[in-house]
Amino acid sequence: MEPNKKVSIAVLCMDYRFWPDTLPLLEEKYGEFDLIEIAGGSKSLVLPLEPEDRITLLENISISIKLHHAERIILTNHIDCGAYGGSTKFKTHDKELAFHKEELEKAEMVIEKKFPELEVVKLIIYKNDKDEIKLIEV
Ligand SMILES: [Zn+2]
Repeated sequence: MEPNKKVSIAVLCMDYRFWPDTLPLLEEKYGEFDLIEIAGGSKSLVLPLEPEDRITLLENISISIKLHHAERIILTNHIDCGAYGGSTKFKTHDKELAFHKEELEKAEMVIEKKFPELEVVKLIIYKNDKDEIKLIEV
């Protein structure tokens, strides 16, 4: 491992439309990471579908820190996420982006409280007109 290289934890939604093309982009930008996939991604930190989801997610983060010395967490949400009711819930694309930005900020606060040692990166994942996966750091 290079001295400057941080191990990350990436929290992603299980949605097959997004994760396969997202993983290589994350690896390219952030290097090695432990992967936690759960419906809704970072939603489980803020408004879990089931209370156990939040506990499991926090436990997985703890394990990654203990075993792999993770120093960074990449919190992601994606556009048209079914766990949030999909894109149709929002009047415009910008409103959907703004909503996810706020949700990621709430998730960041949970992480800062529980794991203050972790650097937090917040990303919104979307597909452009050419159906390519893009990441917006917020
Ligand atoms: Zn989703």
